[in-house]
Amino acid sequence: MVTVHRQVIVVGAGIAGLWTLRRLVAAGYDAILLEKEAIGAGQTLGAQGILHGGVKYGLDGSNREIAEKLRSLPPIWLECLAGKREPSLAAARTLSPCQHLWAADSWLARVGATVGARAMQGEVKKLAREDWPPALREGGHKGAVYELEETVIEVKSVLAALAGPVHDRILQAGIDEYEVDAAGGLMALQCGGVRLTAGVFLFTAATGNEAAALAAGFGNAVTQRRPLKQVMVRGALPELFGHCVTATPKPVVTITSHPTGEGKVWYLGGGVAEDATGMTDEEAMRQARKKLSGIFPDFRWEGLEWACWKVDRAEPHAASRLPDGPALLERGNTALAWPTKLVYAPALADQALEFTARHLTPGDMATDPIPLPLAGMGHYPWETAAWRTLPS
Ligand SMILES: Cc1cc2nc3c(=O)[nH]c(=O)nc-3n(C[C@H](O)[C@H](O)[C@H](O)COP(=O)(O)OP(=O)(O)OC[C@H]3O[C@@H](n4cnc5c(N)ncnc54)[C@H](O)[C@@H]3O)c2cc1C
Repeated sequence: MVTVHRQVIVVGAGIAGLWTLRRLVAAGYDAILLEKEAIGAGQTLGAQGILHGGVKYGLDGSNREIAEKLRSLPPIWLECLAGKREPSLAAARTLSPCQHLWAADSWLARVGATVGARAMQGEVKKLAREDWPPALREGGHKGAVYELEETVIEVKSVLAALAGPVHDRILQAGIDEYEVDAAGGLMALQCGGVRLTAGVFLFTAATGNEAAALAAGFGNAVTQRRPLKQVMVRGALPELFGHCVTATPKPVVTITSHPTGEGKVWYLGGGVAEDATGMTDEEAMRQARKKLSGIFPDFRWEGLEWACWKVDRAEPHAASRLPDGPALLERGNTALAWPTKLVYAPALADQALEFTARHLTPGDMATDPIPLPLAGMGHYPWETAAWRTLPS
């Protein structure tokens, strides 16, 4: 088996691994990224693409810390998207510069104070009816509509912009064996007939971090999964991005709209996706249609196609079940990392760079080839879904 050495091996080409790779290479480290399927193939291409500014988490005051932490992050992304900060995402696209929050009248009194405070700081704006998005005006919504300063990114274009300059360092390979030394430290990874050694191993592999945690001596209590079943509906739908809140501060549904060859896909997260985890796909689609019919009483849902996508949010273990930010756990030369949200990827990459700098100084770039193929771009859930109509 051929042995190849690089300074840093990052495992998992989602948003976390890609952002980390870009930061490491820019700092002069000889780093590579291993991906077992395709770029973005895990949670990242399944994300709704919202650069959360924290408003949704601050609505009832119970997650105020998360809300505050999130407020500082979208500006970093926006500077990267404008090409004013590295890694430049100037070639990436956004789907919407803002989101909407709409609430039934009965609920408004309860969220009013928080929304009002945010409005004072310019983050939230109450809209006059003529400025509502057409979906809410024509769908029969009664209540208030707010505009939130939350950009929605076109995720694939962001991944392409991150991967482009370092694509020759992103290799397609899963891990067949972990080699550890007598003290339990990670020495090498065997991947597709190649033995890869490194000074630092960084795992940004989401559920793949679980196997790494066991192999590298972190144990099995450092990770958690929270399941979701996203529901998708496609056809002649208007564009809409936002959260519907009614009886609880948790959005009943978070809707993002994505262009496809067959009209738009509404990708449904929030309560709809959490409630659906215990349901069959058929039940999940029906409950989503029922909720949407209540929210948009004037829309007709016949003739649209429906699909589901099941995924586990892979996270560091949190006693409260809701992680309050990115996490990097270290043991010797190995770290396990989770961003927990797209918006936290830059902060996580800072932590990964700082961890690496404590172990290594930037070195010469190796020129010996690694006999593994380059990883390609993954698919959005709606590109591979089994679409079907839903009888009434
Ligand atoms: C349905 C959904 C919607 C979301 N919406 C939003 C949102 O709107 N805004 C937001 O900020 N956050 C959102 N999130 C959270 C966000 O998507 C994730 O926090 C983020 O994408 C995680 O990135 P990651 O790189 O850690 O993991 P992933 O994107 O899951 O990447 C991990 C990669 O590791 C690879 N891998 C696994 N094991 C191995 C192995 N052994 N060897 C090599 N490669 C391996 C996988 O194939 C995968 O490509 C959402 C999450 C979900 C599930």
